[in-house]
Amino acid sequence: MDPNCIFCKIVTKVNPSRTIYQDDLVTAFLDIHPVAPFHILIVPNKHIESVNAVESGDESLLGHLFTVAHQIASQEKIDQSGYRMIINTGPNAGQAIYHLHLHLLGGRRMRFPMG
Ligand code: 5GP
Ligand code: ZN
Repeated sequence: MDPNCIFCKIVTKVNPSRTIYQDDLVTAFLDIHPVAPFHILIVPNKHIESVNAVESGDESLLGHLFTVAHQIASQEKIDQSGYRMIINTGPNAGQAIYHLHLHLLGGRRMRFPMG
């Protein structure tokens, strides 16, 4: 827990959010500025700044992020229509919050190519 981190405060419920899923390892909540009809963020409960701070001991945690992403996509019935997952890392990717987070976007056709 980093007391200055917005997403740590959401995980610990110091700050409000529209949380749709939480377990011992991860939390999923609606993005405050959605860019698609369905746009959530899935974060590890543990403060990891970015993919650059990931260590080998984090592998099961990061795998769990994907399992939860799939569960939520199924629940929301966007698994068959499709969805996009994005992890921004560092300035060139536009990372704004330095607590690792997976964007899960769905509910419309995504534009391609990316970038
Ligand atoms: P990044 O650019 O770091 O990948 O994305 C950060 C995301 O966090 C943005 O999509 C932004 O809308 C979202 N965000 C920033 N502050 C808050 C907040 O306080 N609550 C929620 N729910 N989302 C936030
Ligand atoms: Zn944090």
